[in-house]
Amino acid sequence: MEKHHGFLCKNPHELYYKMMQSKEKMKREKMDHLNQCKKRLRVCVATCNRADYSKLAPIMFGIKSHPDDFELDVVVLGSHLIDDYGNTFRMIEQDDFDISSKLHTIVRGEDEAAMVESVGLALVKLPDVLQRLRPDLVIIHGDRFDALALATSAALMNIRILHLEGGEVSGTIDDSIRHAISKLAHYHACCTRRAEQHLISMCEDHSRILLAGCPSYDKLLSPHNSEVYLDIIKSWLGDDVKDHDYIVALQHPVTTDIQHSIKIYGLMLDALVSFNKKTLILFPNIDAGSKEMVRVMRKKSIETHPNFRAVKHIPFEQFIQLVCHAGCMIGNSSCGVREAGAFGTPVVNLGTRQTGRETGENVLHVRDADSHNKIYHALQLQFGKRYPCSKIYGDGNAVPRIVKFLQSIDLNKPLQKTFCFPLVKDSISQDIDHILEKQSALAVDLGGTNLRVAIVCSQGIVVKKYTQPNPKTFEPRMQLILKMCENAMQDAVSLNCRILGVGVSTGGRVNPEEGVVLDSTKLIREWTSVDLRTPISDAFHLPVWVDNDGNCAALAERKFGHGKGVENFVTVITGTGIGGGIIQHNELIHGSTFCGAELGHIMVSLDGPECSCGSQGCIEAYASGLALQREAKKMNDDELLKGEGLTTKLSEPITAAHLINAARLGNAKAVAVLNKASTALGVGIINILHTLNPSLVILSGVLASIYEEPVKHLIASRALLPAQSTKVVTSDLEEPALLGAASMVLDYATRRTY
Ligand SMILES: [Zn+2]
Repeated sequence: MEKHHGFLCKNPHELYYKMMQSKEKMKREKMDHLNQCKKRLRVCVATCNRADYSKLAPIMFGIKSHPDDFELDVVVLGSHLIDDYGNTFRMIEQDDFDISSKLHTIVRGEDEAAMVESVGLALVKLPDVLQRLRPDLVIIHGDRFDALALATSAALMNIRILHLEGGEVSGTIDDSIRHAISKLAHYHACCTRRAEQHLISMCEDHSRILLAGCPSYDKLLSPHNSEVYLDIIKSWLGDDVKDHDYIVALQHPVTTDIQHSIKIYGLMLDALVSFNKKTLILFPNIDAGSKEMVRVMRKKSIETHPNFRAVKHIPFEQFIQLVCHAGCMIGNSSCGVREAGAFGTPVVNLGTRQTGRETGENVLHVRDADSHNKIYHALQLQFGKRYPCSKIYGDGNAVPRIVKFLQSIDLNKPLQKTFCFPLVKDSISQDIDHILEKQSALAVDLGGTNLRVAIVCSQGIVVKKYTQPNPKTFEPRMQLILKMCENAMQDAVSLNCRILGVGVSTGGRVNPEEGVVLDSTKLIREWTSVDLRTPISDAFHLPVWVDNDGNCAALAERKFGHGKGVENFVTVITGTGIGGGIIQHNELIHGSTFCGAELGHIMVSLDGPECSCGSQGCIEAYASGLALQREAKKMNDDELLKGEGLTTKLSEPITAAHLINAARLGNAKAVAVLNKASTALGVGIINILHTLNPSLVILSGVLASIYEEPVKHLIASRALLPAQSTKVVTSDLEEPALLGAASMVLDYATRRTY
């Protein structure tokens, strides 16, 4: 016994005491350990008035019931603390919440200026409180001006914000405030599916939006104690009133149209007096215009009228019972279009305050409430009816969802919001004169013969084109490029084209990351290690992209041609030389030393004719324009290039066109040369199919249409069976190099990566 727990004590009391001490210590250590493992989330709930408290209270209870996860601070401000509005902060005390801070933030006056001053006062007082409480997260409800001050303070102090009821549309200044708060908030708990969609279209991060439903619905949709409600009705409206035989009226000023809303208020009171039913009327809220409304009410002696009971505040639970069993609700309060729907209570909604809100079929809108008769008639239509209950605003499980959402918040994740901007399609921007400008690119094409510059708009239309012979040496060539670009830039303004950048397509090997031409074929001389990006970018202060002409042709097909939407395809350009581009998974393949897709130098024989690259048997040496010209010249020298009516050799400069023409006229030798060229090209293309297995081959350049059929036949007879299904088409783009150069600008200008 003495050795129990290793204690050597004689006195059993002392032993007991020591045991307890050790147990306590172990318990404390365990708790400390737990606390270190999981920090409780410090949540601050800020409430400004009875309406927002009715939404916040259920969440506060939810938070309070999870003491292991949350610490709760309650900040009270706004009209809660004003006597005229019922000193509603007492509700919070009655609900047994400790109020951490009370801030008097209302500047009296009830006009627009007073609202602004109230926001200012709240902004002066809130930082101290937030500094002291240091919450991890502030929960802010709705669209009131006080809430805007809260959200502004929290956001500027890097405190996370959960905004309730964002994304809704009502139709007043509240909309602007609500959306502004959503923009400042880091998390959203919204009520309806449409609100969720609005938040997403406002570029809020979908993963931070919770479609919770309205928290006040949780209680509404839970089973009611039916015996109590009659007592509640009687306590507010007298013993002789029956359920479904009284009216609840609640009309607030519309701050964007105060005079009109005061007029509607007077008309509503007149209509209610003539309708002659027991009516419970609540004082309007503190918005600008409320003082005048109360004045109108007094002038019509509503407070002393036997049918009326005018009150400043009713506890939310009782208010809900009163709405639930009313014969009709009238006014413009959000309760009418939201909560009343859950019971199917008929509602007459006056004016524009709730215009944009989603409602159930229980709401009859009198938007243009300009006469006593209209309102009276609406009351006649609605009074005493029952409608099916609507669950647009929630299914009664908002609070458990919100608590779970709060538990999932990871404070280690960055506080910085990311906005999810949608891609803007073929954007058109306007300049100061409201002239439509087309987003455009300056495209430069450096070929063996010509230097061309074009303005290309985002739809792929060449708006204007400039052509000059390509100078043979470096200096004049650079000067000409800059001069032509400058002219095009000047013309672009009058053509309503906004130039986003410059794209250059050039013969040769290019490092597109640095915008440098590494080397070139003999066709463009003095074109080695040329930095094209720096001088053009310096001259025009625009981003510049440079790529090889074959790659540009592939880019042109991807954006404007047959390659649109095709994930893997290959372009083969048969012009003076042969080039190409490979699109794999929608991107160009450049290779490790930027000589990927040099398709012209695919070799199809071990010896064969000499190629411009210094090797032999390349498809360029068989099937390019230069190769055909070479064969044509040979035939002409041997007097074999004779067609009908031609007996001697031609004296004009011989080109590939002569050979093609002769073949068309039946010249057997010419046909044989073309067949050999087509076969070489076709075999080369089959090699590509067996290497990359693209789904499409696009032939472009002047000779494409001549080669299309023979290439198809060759694939059908000589390619591996699975590769035979590859489609072969001839490009229908007139300017692949220019369009490709432009597409670099149009596709990448918004990415800002070179
Ligand atoms: Zn070659």
